[in-house]
Amino acid sequence: DWPTQDLVAARAAATPDRTALIDADRDESITYREYDAAVGRRAAALNQLTDDDPDRIAVLLDTRPAFAELFFAAMRLGVSVVPLNVRLTPAEVREQVERTEPDALLCERETEATATEVFDGPIASVDDAAAAGVQTLDDIDGAPFEPATLTPETEQLVLFTSGTTGQPKGVRLTVGNLVASATASAFRLGVTRSDRWLCCLPTYHMGGLAPVVRSALYGATVVIQREFDAAETARILDESGITGVSLVPTMLARLLDVGWEPSEQLRFVLLGGAPASDDLLARARERDVPACPTYGMTETASQIATATPEQAAGHEGTVGQPLVNTTVTVVDEDGDPVGTGETGEIVVSGPTVTPGYLDPAVTEDAFGPEGLHTGDIGSRDEDGRLWVHNRVDDRIVTGGENVDPGEVVAVLREHPAVHEAAVVGLDDPEWGERVAALVVPADGGDPTAEEIEGHCRGRLAGFKLPRTVAFADELPRTASGTVDRGAVRKRLRDRQV
Ligand code: ATP
Ligand code: MG
Repeated sequence: DWPTQDLVAARAAATPDRTALIDADRDESITYREYDAAVGRRAAALNQLTDDDPDRIAVLLDTRPAFAELFFAAMRLGVSVVPLNVRLTPAEVREQVERTEPDALLCERETEATATEVFDGPIASVDDAAAAGVQTLDDIDGAPFEPATLTPETEQLVLFTSGTTGQPKGVRLTVGNLVASATASAFRLGVTRSDRWLCCLPTYHMGGLAPVVRSALYGATVVIQREFDAAETARILDESGITGVSLVPTMLARLLDVGWEPSEQLRFVLLGGAPASDDLLARARERDVPACPTYGMTETASQIATATPEQAAGHEGTVGQPLVNTTVTVVDEDGDPVGTGETGEIVVSGPTVTPGYLDPAVTEDAFGPEGLHTGDIGSRDEDGRLWVHNRVDDRIVTGGENVDPGEVVAVLREHPAVHEAAVVGLDDPEWGERVAALVVPADGGDPTAEEIEGHCRGRLAGFKLPRTVAFADELPRTASGTVDRGAVRKRLRDRQV
């Protein structure tokens, strides 16, 4: 059935006594009946707060159950939610608020000060003792409302991308996008209402939001942890009977570092946001971690492709086949589809794909005849399995030759003293760009720049050789786990002088 009412209301009617939401930090849980009541209260308060038939509310909240309640309260009112990243500076929050024009801003104790600094409209806190004179949502006498009738086209979210390639882009996502993504992913993984998902990624990105939406669609349980912490997350994974969790690859590495072993119940460890290295997947396999490499983006309301552990086995580096109803085409620079095994830009279409960005000019640029251009370079095999190599913008052009940084990284990683590496182009007066590498030595390894350069010579054409090599204890990463290439470039540039 197409859900015409918000997902929590639907589940509360069907399975009121099931556990809906667990606050892992406070060790509190609520049933779907209680979830439904909380959503109703929040919706009435929101309706009063924004007495003017609101279109959008912005939410400046960390990852916690109140976020989920507000999200579904907005859905109940037919209002779109703009989740804002609590780690942004006030100036950055102001900028996103100005771009999205919300009718109200919801905050918590920790973000109250920023909220009042950047927003002139109605503000309310979800915490009781609001300090800086902000009213609390609980103190507002709710106004009665008529629950909205949802359609697939109803805008439910404006979500900002991670900003790996530039300023974060505001992506509009509909109820249809969210439901399509949740059902397609569940179909691939075999998710049921007996599942228990751990949400320990920020809910202001798709990685954290997806488990909240998915569990409500299926009437499953979501366990919310405010912030990933290897030891604490490992404990929750064991003790709370978690069956599924989404992580960025570095989180899995940290869990393995603290000696975590998966419990019997755990069926899926979805890895996304950045490539999961072969090393990491091999380490995961040794401990029987059910690792599922995935590929997705904000614009597709989460995953485009997902591999179950069985599908990943024997196909190193693959992110699996596209989800049901998602069509992936790999195209060349003219937009024409390339053959099996050939490399090109990944273009995606289907019901999970955003109707567009906030900025119509960005939308205009991003869509072509085959669908949304992801900006990612990839290839497919004869069975439709997808590999993601790197981003279009990451390509290095040196002396007129194209260099794929992924190829150079792969060669660097073959050196036994190299744990991982990032390769970028640095401005060069003679060649336009020159290839540069930031290398993280393997445990106990102490390679020199000369050794690394010697290793690459003979394995790579002259124009692909890293001309600058520097070392670091770890690669700088964005909050979503992607290598922060701007920061890599800066370190290498600083090193050069
Ligand atoms: P922006 O669009 O602002 O530059 P972003 O693309 O990093 O930021 P997200 O939507 O959070 O913002 O991330 C999606 C991107 O993450 C994908 O386009 C891809 O580049 C990268 N990514 C996700 N999963 C994988 C994966 N399995 N392997 C490689 N890259 C991945
Ligand atoms: Mg992007």
